[in-house]
Amino acid sequence: MTEQPIYRVEGLTRVYGDGASAVHALRGVDLVLPPGEISVLLGPSGSGKSTLLNILGGLDRPSAGRAWFRGEDLTQMPDRTLTRYRRDHLGFVFQFYNLMPSLTAEENVALVTEIAPDPMAPAEALAMVGLEARKDHFPSQMSGGEQQRVAIARAVAKRPEVLLCDEPTGALDSATGREVLGVLQHLNRSLGTTVMIVTHAAATAAMAHRVIRFADGAIREVEMNHAPRPAEEIVW
Ligand code: ADP
Repeated sequence: MTEQPIYRVEGLTRVYGDGASAVHALRGVDLVLPPGEISVLLGPSGSGKSTLLNILGGLDRPSAGRAWFRGEDLTQMPDRTLTRYRRDHLGFVFQFYNLMPSLTAEENVALVTEIAPDPMAPAEALAMVGLEARKDHFPSQMSGGEQQRVAIARAVAKRPEVLLCDEPTGALDSATGREVLGVLQHLNRSLGTTVMIVTHAAATAAMAHRVIRFADGAIREVEMNHAPRPAEEIVW
């Protein structure tokens, strides 16, 4: 028996606005994703990558089409169920870290673990991203890469099944970006977390199991990578 997909998407369409000014962000996207993979979403700016990620993340709803998480139809879920889905199953990593400036690294992670059913200790999550020595530092005392690693620790501390990452290296220099990608790869390997990464950095494809190429609101190509490279070897 084949494993149930973590996500399945059929005919997903998202139109913003209407009439002459309508923007067709997604034009009928179909996709099946097995669990445990790293997938990288590439394509020009405005091609619909973030829109798909936001719908899978329960942050937006499609205009038409359906999307299932482990067989549960996200598009039919009431708002409260969708909120619970986000809280219980997902971690988010964005380009900007959204840390609370008045809290230490450990306290920033604890904000999330306090409301999660089966969290890691904040210090354990920080150790997973190589920041055990920085747990008492405030965001202003850390580099951009370190702040992003705190944001990743915060996202994984509740042991999510999926990490949805939108331009996680967008604000970082290439060496630091590589380190952050290395952390995502490590979490995928050690915890089996499904990782989806939207990025402009095409070289990120080398570390993915699956590369999904977008153009003009549609998936143009899905390419499997049977020998993903260590993130440390990615050259920008
Ligand atoms: P990508 O992530 O590939 O850069 P997006 O999914 O962010 O692309 O955007 C796809 C298209 O939808 C773009 O033309 C964008 O301007 C438009 N769009 C995205 N979000 C909104 C919104 N909230 N309101 C109106 N248009 C939007």
